[in-house]
Amino acid sequence: MNLHDKLAILADAAKYDASCASSGAQRRDSKNGTGVGSAGGMGICHSYAPDGRCISLLKLLLTNRCIYDCHYCINRRSSNVRRAAFTPDEVVRLTLDFYKRNYIEGLFLSSGITRSADHTMEQLVEVARTLRETHDFRGYIHLKTIPEASPELIEKAAKYADRISLNLELPVQTSLDRLAPEKNLARTKQAMGRIRLKLDDAAERRKQGDRKLRHATGQSTQVIVGADASTDADFLTRSEELYQSYRLRRVYYSAFSPIPEPSAILPAKPAPLLREHRLYQADWLMRFYGFQRSEITPLDQPNLALHIDPKLAWALRNRALFPLDLRTATREQLLRVPGLGPRNVERILDLRRHTFIRLDDLRRLRVPLGKVRPFLATADHRPSLTELESDRILARFAPKPEQLELFC
Ligand code: SF4
Repeated sequence: MNLHDKLAILADAAKYDASCASSGAQRRDSKNGTGVGSAGGMGICHSYAPDGRCISLLKLLLTNRCIYDCHYCINRRSSNVRRAAFTPDEVVRLTLDFYKRNYIEGLFLSSGITRSADHTMEQLVEVARTLRETHDFRGYIHLKTIPEASPELIEKAAKYADRISLNLELPVQTSLDRLAPEKNLARTKQAMGRIRLKLDDAAERRKQGDRKLRHATGQSTQVIVGADASTDADFLTRSEELYQSYRLRRVYYSAFSPIPEPSAILPAKPAPLLREHRLYQADWLMRFYGFQRSEITPLDQPNLALHIDPKLAWALRNRALFPLDLRTATREQLLRVPGLGPRNVERILDLRRHTFIRLDDLRRLRVPLGKVRPFLATADHRPSLTELESDRILARFAPKPEQLELFC
């Protein structure tokens, strides 16, 4: 099989992995005329993966052969897809060719598991090692690692990559037992724990001035939403644990969509993309707005509402805490107002030192007045308690009606 055919198969097979954003990576440059692959010192072009999520990265599988049989995966061993495998040298060559043509600024490399976890991991590491050591490649590298691989190999991957990730796939072991019988939650968490210690160690050494240290700066994971019966509370509980105990940079939520020749135990329909979106919003609230998981999905509401965002849903469940007085509300309280983000909260805190804030001031800050008015009292506005308490408030935020498609 020629390289072009392999590329067609293995780039397509990689599109199901969403965990490839590059935020927070260490920047390198090649302005001194040596090395290749800097995204900082020259023009950046973008190439889009077929699913449209991953920009500027060559996103590939080393192989789509796999000895595991995860039901939701098109590459599982019982699937009837065309198989292909790159050699590490072929991936290196492709990455450099794509980079030199200005198509990409880095590589996202994952793989099915061939022969054994260690064998596969060795090949992934070899690609990253050759790029960095033989070709002085300074672009971004994200390596997918395999929890069952030896800790030494995962550590080596972290040495050459900017970001490493281990996919959790499903938030609870019972779902893994059913849909990905070879995967084990405890083993994945153990591997994440070891990576966390190495990342902490590397961060400390960097803080102490070790500028030459080469080590990944973060780890991430992906979960599939809607393939099993897990609730949004299950997903967010797991994410909260991963952020707090394993210091993950990101948990990526990927709405399940049926694959060709699907397993009979999978849902026949795709999960709503809006559910994936709401989970990202809830995740954001936990990471940047000080919310606890239990506030976002209380015991009696384990799934997020689809028709309103989770911050508004929380505010409506806690109407007694509003309206807030803009003169006295704390930063933490303001962050909980629907329509206010961290940047506007800082601006408001700054502005109120000099003046009594009025609605016009908020308008000038581009605060969405329609959204915040019921929740905030300003110098010239006192929200009506009746409106806040009535169900009419929901109408204010209800999504605009859409013309339905005649044919679908
Ligand atoms: S281990 Fe990865 S590639 Fe193999 S079947 Fe499972 S999800 Fe697919």
